[in-house]
Amino acid sequence: MELVIDDIKIKNTADELKTKIIRKEVQLASKEFRAKHPILQHQNAIGLSIFLVCVAMIILSAYLYLTQKIGVIAVILSVAFWTSFLHELEHDLIHFMYFKKNKFIQNLMMLGVWVFRPMTINPWLRREIHFHHHRVSGTKTDIEERGVTNGEKWSFKRLITTADILLGGVLRGARIRKDIIEAVKNGELPREQALEFKKLKIYGMLPFTLGLYLVWYLFLAHYTVHFFTSILNIDYQSPAIIQAQFKWINPLVAILIFPNLFRMFSLHFITSNMHYYGDVEAGNVMQQTQVLNKWYFIPMQLFCCNFGSTHAIHHFVVNETFYVRQFTAAKAHKVMQEQGVRFNDIASIKRANRFFETSRLKIA
Ligand SMILES: [Zn+2]
Ligand SMILES: [Zn+2]
Repeated sequence: MELVIDDIKIKNTADELKTKIIRKEVQLASKEFRAKHPILQHQNAIGLSIFLVCVAMIILSAYLYLTQKIGVIAVILSVAFWTSFLHELEHDLIHFMYFKKNKFIQNLMMLGVWVFRPMTINPWLRREIHFHHHRVSGTKTDIEERGVTNGEKWSFKRLITTADILLGGVLRGARIRKDIIEAVKNGELPREQALEFKKLKIYGMLPFTLGLYLVWYLFLAHYTVHFFTSILNIDYQSPAIIQAQFKWINPLVAILIFPNLFRMFSLHFITSNMHYYGDVEAGNVMQQTQVLNKWYFIPMQLFCCNFGSTHAIHHFVVNETFYVRQFTAAKAHKVMQEQGVRFNDIASIKRANRFFETSRLKIA
């Protein structure tokens, strides 16, 4: 079950040619880089090493925080930083880049990247919607990107659901469901695929993701009540049984929940704005993404492994690891720019990620 992205024939033959040119150049850059650094042949060992270093750094950060050697800001930034590598590893694992022949280790790594990034959906189920994302990026059945606000007008709702995928799912679930049913009826989406998506909706957050979101909401509600009662000078104490829970809730929020939400905000802000939506030709890679690499994106790029700069390259050449992509980005960007891939198209953020400027009026 590997991904083939050439399976959709597009009408825009000029863009098809440009895509081929970019693909060839990027593949060549990878090949040259790999030839210069033979150590890269040990892909499984490199993937596993990155995984182990990240996990060790997360555990060390948690330990230092719990023993009061570092403060809350330091633990949040550290865990957010190291889990951003785990996100890229998860993405590589989804594309079967490590331990292809050793399912046990591959699945163990999948479990690991989920456990340490527990506010995200089940990675085994994500694989289905991610492959679908590559096939039809920017169209209405691309639920992976729509699930993180891609294509929506900027509003308070988009802001609060950029990181929070559970709330986002609740608020936009009905709309996406309607679009999926319509796509099945029109023959744009196989029924079996729609049923796979349904599975993701039901099981994607079980068991612990859902539990941790509920802990997060309890944390928010608790401190909001305390904040307002103290401003209004109201003498209020939570019941003792609730207060006792915060002995474990507070550190859990500091070590795991908030760093992941902070990281997800950075990643989702970048990804939902670097993918175009709504008026792109299905399968046309030239229209799917832009490169976001201006200096002012650096604070967010730091917590998503430079995603804005490198993810567009991945749309052209899928089967390359995230770390090699970082090293070949300069060469890739050169050919992408020459062929007309957009860079830092900030105006698209204002037009709800539409590709064409004239599509502004069609924003739902
Ligand atoms: Zn993408
Ligand atoms: Zn991918």
